[in-house]
Amino acid sequence: MADVKAPVIGRDALGREVKDLSVIPWWGVDRKEIEWYPKINYSVCARCGLCFITCGRRVFDWDTEEGKPVVARPYNCMVGCNTCAILCPCNAIEFPPKEYVKKLVIEHGIIRKAFEITKPLTKKKEESTNGAESVFNP
Ligand code: SF4
Ligand code: SF4
Repeated sequence: MADVKAPVIGRDALGREVKDLSVIPWWGVDRKEIEWYPKINYSVCARCGLCFITCGRRVFDWDTEEGKPVVARPYNCMVGCNTCAILCPCNAIEFPPKEYVKKLVIEHGIIRKAFEITKPLTKKKEESTNGAESVFNP
């Protein structure tokens, strides 16, 4: 996989460095073609800021006028991550269904690519796929 460097594009409301991680492809797929990022339901959001503070990829920023989180850099989100939704005390953060990501994994042959990376690391040279390919390609 190509080693793409993410440029620094500024700082967030807490003064933390922000990078544009959307330039880094996901398993060779343009990140901006993947619609995986959080959406905030403001009708239930308590505006505690936990999502904004804890996401290390700086997907969120803080609206200092309104005192609420905003999804400022959606394509910085790690495909398949939903940590902020799990942490949110109000269940105010939504993602697409996990099947959306599983479909991408199949469509782009990602299991095979992963095996190609991990197999050379394994000393014992026997088939160790354990049927994973068939699970993802029924
Ligand atoms: S963690 Fe949840 S409740 Fe807190 S600011 Fe974020 S979305 Fe709102
Ligand atoms: S899912 Fe993970 S990477 Fe994406 S916004 Fe939430 S905490 Fe950040």
